[in-house]
Amino acid sequence: MKVIDANVIIHGRGLNEELVTVPEVIEELNSGKALQGLNSFQVESRECSQDSLEKVREKSSEINAKTSDTDEKLLALALDLQKPVFTDDKELQNLSLHLDAEIEGFLDDIPDEKLSWEMKCTRCGEKASKCGCGATPERKLSQRSSV
Ligand SMILES: [Zn+2]
Repeated sequence: MKVIDANVIIHGRGLNEELVTVPEVIEELNSGKALQGLNSFQVESRECSQDSLEKVREKSSEINAKTSDTDEKLLALALDLQKPVFTDDKELQNLSLHLDAEIEGFLDDIPDEKLSWEMKCTRCGEKASKCGCGATPERKLSQRSSV
């Protein structure tokens, strides 16, 4: 069993395994033109636990990940089920690595390092929380470690 994201559902024709996703992904697909892909194989829909979701959101804000709400629910579900996340989304893969969740790439290789960012002021270079000049902060790479 794998926890699958919308992109892999759309492009992953002919996948022959047990797949699960969160209801938000199914809704996303139903509102778009991807229904055809969804019909070509069976995807089960399950809610993630609040506990896991909180853990994921905490880590996401800690490292300044650019993950969507749906991505974070997918990862939370993967943690609940102890199954790999099946995605090519780099932000989601990176966040998964930080939470020791297993990841599987679909078309691309999975990253061999995990990244963290800080929000820093573009004018004075200080962390956004310490800056007094009010310029819009930018996301800057702060840490990179191999996995
Ligand atoms: Zn500043």
